[in-house]
Amino acid sequence: MPGTELFGNEERKEINDVLETGILFRFNHEQQRNGIWKARDFEAEVRKITGAKYAHAVSSGSTAIATALAASGIGTGDEVIVPPFTYIATIEAVLFVGAIPVFAEIDETLCLSAKGIEQAITKKTKAVCLVHMCGGMADMDGIMAVIKDYNLVLVEDAGQAFAASYKGTATGLFGTAGSYSFDFFKIATAGEGGVLVTNDENVYKLADSYSDHGHDHVGANRGMEQHPVLGFNYRISELHAAVGVAQTRKVPHIREVNRKHKSLLVELLSQTEGISFATLPDPDGDSATFLNILLPDTETAARVVAAFGAAGVSGFNYWYVNMYHFINQWDHIKNLKTASKLPIEILGKSQDYNTMELPKSQEVIGRLISFGIRCTWTEDEVRALAEKIATCVRMTVAVPA
Ligand SMILES: *Cc1c(COP(=O)(O)O)cnc(C)c1O
Repeated sequence: MPGTELFGNEERKEINDVLETGILFRFNHEQQRNGIWKARDFEAEVRKITGAKYAHAVSSGSTAIATALAASGIGTGDEVIVPPFTYIATIEAVLFVGAIPVFAEIDETLCLSAKGIEQAITKKTKAVCLVHMCGGMADMDGIMAVIKDYNLVLVEDAGQAFAASYKGTATGLFGTAGSYSFDFFKIATAGEGGVLVTNDENVYKLADSYSDHGHDHVGANRGMEQHPVLGFNYRISELHAAVGVAQTRKVPHIREVNRKHKSLLVELLSQTEGISFATLPDPDGDSATFLNILLPDTETAARVVAAFGAAGVSGFNYWYVNMYHFINQWDHIKNLKTASKLPIEILGKSQDYNTMELPKSQEVIGRLISFGIRCTWTEDEVRALAEKIATCVRMTVAVPA
């Protein structure tokens, strides 16, 4: 959670700018706000880091991906290919726009693979909601070839991959629209917040309206605006956006420090028998928020997790059994336990979520242990952590279960 480690005077200054004027609303009030537009500044900072033509800040990463799907034309009855390893918001967003999630295989990139996507395509497939997991990126050359071959819409949930890129293009900018999260656990935080990015002006305009009850935001009188579409309230407040501005300015520094820590960890651990790492299709584009270790098999990984516990090693996630990031823990999705009836319950699933098999995803997530990289670590702390990890893995691998 690097951003939260660096909360300080810069964030307080941006918040105070807003408190001075009292205009907590991101639109209108030109007279009273004294030139203070924090949501706009936040969007400008995100454009600067990603190179996106358009950025639109909203209330969360969840509402950003929901808006990205809607603005890309994904809706009722459309099959959308999704990964079984993501934060649950991705799947909820697909369901709540009325679409039908179809799970496909990930691989050692921790993201949907081109092959996994291709195998899940049916006549009803409209889109792929690709998720760039654990600070890294998917294999975009392979995936874009499939997207083009089958004429699919690509929407990217880059909730965990702000400031990551693939061959020079930021995650989130390969498809029609992409989203980032700025919740408390991401590389930069707004407290709560999300940003949608796109290079398509029409998609941007639709997203801008959709996330504010359809308002077109033309003119200075909110009451007299036009409403090209129906929408909802996914707005970000100026206070949250103010924190997002200060935090986003720190991201280049955070990324640089994270990369230094991560490359030292990789160097120190790469000689340890039993340790390999998740695949980074473009190592130079890593946001380096996680060190993703792959153990030889699930059984060994579970024993390493136990060894970490005994040795007092912390700061890692074993997603296979924990954290609600993997399908094995998603009973509410599998059994469609919903507060009220969703379109999928009338249209029917395309896949039986309880009996479908995703052996490759099970194998990869079973082997995966992810350590969060902290940008405030000292080099000694990095070396000490590597030593502890190596010791636990060596002990485990040497002694058969
Ligand atoms: C964090 C996250 C989200 C949700 O973001 P919030 O800001 O918490 O709503 C969505 N997708 C992914 C991949 C995430 O990691």
